[in-house]
Amino acid sequence: MQGAWVLLLLLGLRPQLSLGTIPVEEEDPAFWNRQAAQALDAAKKLKPIQTAAKNLILFLGDGMGVPTVTAARILKGQMNNKLGPETPLAMDHFPYVALSKTYNVDRQVPDSAGTATAYLCGVKANYQTIGLSAAARFDQCNTTQGNEVISVMYRAKKAGKSVGVVTTTRVQHASPAGTYAHVVNRNWYSDADMPAKARKEGCQDIARQLISNVDIDVILGGGRKYMFPKGTPDPEYLSDATQNGIRLDGRNLVQEWQARHQGARYVWNRQGLLQASQDPSVTHLMGLFEPGDTKYEVHRNHTRDPSLMEMTEAALHLLRRNPRGFYLFVEGGRIDHGHHDGRAYLALTEAVMFDSAIDKASQLTSEKDTLTLVTADHSHVFSFGGYTLRGSSIFGLAPSKAHDNKTYTSILYGNGPGGFALKDGPRPNVSDSQSGNPSYQQQAAVPLQSETHGGEDVAVFARGPQAHLVHGVQEQSFVAHVMAFAACLEPYTDCGLPPSAGPNDAAPPGPAAGPPSLPLLAGALLLLLAGAAP
Ligand SMILES: [Zn+2]
Repeated sequence: MQGAWVLLLLLGLRPQLSLGTIPVEEEDPAFWNRQAAQALDAAKKLKPIQTAAKNLILFLGDGMGVPTVTAARILKGQMNNKLGPETPLAMDHFPYVALSKTYNVDRQVPDSAGTATAYLCGVKANYQTIGLSAAARFDQCNTTQGNEVISVMYRAKKAGKSVGVVTTTRVQHASPAGTYAHVVNRNWYSDADMPAKARKEGCQDIARQLISNVDIDVILGGGRKYMFPKGTPDPEYLSDATQNGIRLDGRNLVQEWQARHQGARYVWNRQGLLQASQDPSVTHLMGLFEPGDTKYEVHRNHTRDPSLMEMTEAALHLLRRNPRGFYLFVEGGRIDHGHHDGRAYLALTEAVMFDSAIDKASQLTSEKDTLTLVTADHSHVFSFGGYTLRGSSIFGLAPSKAHDNKTYTSILYGNGPGGFALKDGPRPNVSDSQSGNPSYQQQAAVPLQSETHGGEDVAVFARGPQAHLVHGVQEQSFVAHVMAFAACLEPYTDCGLPPSAGPNDAAPPGPAAGPPSLPLLAGALLLLLAGAAP
């Protein structure tokens, strides 16, 4: 036996990867009966919170389909020295779940622009367009005007709340842009990314819309180069001209934004962010931490670049000062990029950090006054299978060989850069140490430069006032409507909901706080008629 272990170690396999683990307590039916009894007890005690929500938070895992959620759960569990699948994510603790149908009006398998319009503005839209109804056409500037649809974030601002956008991508990227922009082409990040014809017709780039459409109190993410005139050196990469500003109109959008508010602060590194978030004189905060997207969590410089969790915490510190509440959009934007690249390690470690940001927000807010939703815009053709043993690495191999007598990884993609063309010869073998490498590209059935999105439904997790409305199978646009209704925002200003209890109040106001219900009145009348009333 010992010889076998030595052999496994020599082969570079960690013993538990190949042998798996069966927790002895799980062999006893009482374990599962006890576990289920606790879950049942919690389910029976679950009571909808019937007040309005003072605060709204939307967590968007870009490309975080259900297989990604499950794989991230296993990875996060294993990072905490657990076997994995049994260990809940922060989002798993949310009491209500629904499925969201993600298709675009014109595409069965959607992109992040059309979907952002749905879950942020409440109207389904076309592929690659942002903040416009489906009457707008991709890349046709003259179909913009008159087709704008308005985000829940903008409606929250109009109602006096503070609002914020936090993302690991550039802040001009499709998902965050859905909170503030109206554009027929998601790639129009700056004026330099637009055709001259569209500029002449009066269409505006996304960066310009970022500072002019909605007065956003907190903007955190990447995307410096779209904000500064062409040739402006980047403060972090002074000698790298490829990271310079790229604007053609010569405008410095950061300066323009800062000039608009007395308490506006611009930061570009972690230190600046942490200082600004503790400074009471800062009323508006823009933090742009890279020229383009922020770095993957596994490549992040922990002293220079903030994590998604730190950005979320900083945003909440500022936003929650407003007594009228806030709206916050937080995107784990690079889960999607890891998948497109066919590198599951990158995607799943992003998803784990995204869940840590959810955990932090759950600690910093109360479900009594804050409605928090966690969802995805779309899925990916990412899968994990192969009957792997319990406790084995999510990046490991299936225990049996394939028909070609070669090993295969549990994680595979339907298509993508890990696809091998037949002309390149037979499918390569793979070892456990290769597949555990962060840069390993999992095999894919069809070779593509970029792996594609998946078309199946995604989950919506909900916690807080009106979270119980998140149920069943819904159109993706429902997400925006639940949030608008819960906070009594347009078009639900007559929501009829009592105001939320404060986080420190003993209990949210019960039915007594509202007008008495009809059955209650009828009951009282019956008691009176029976002469039993005091
Ligand atoms: Zn994508």
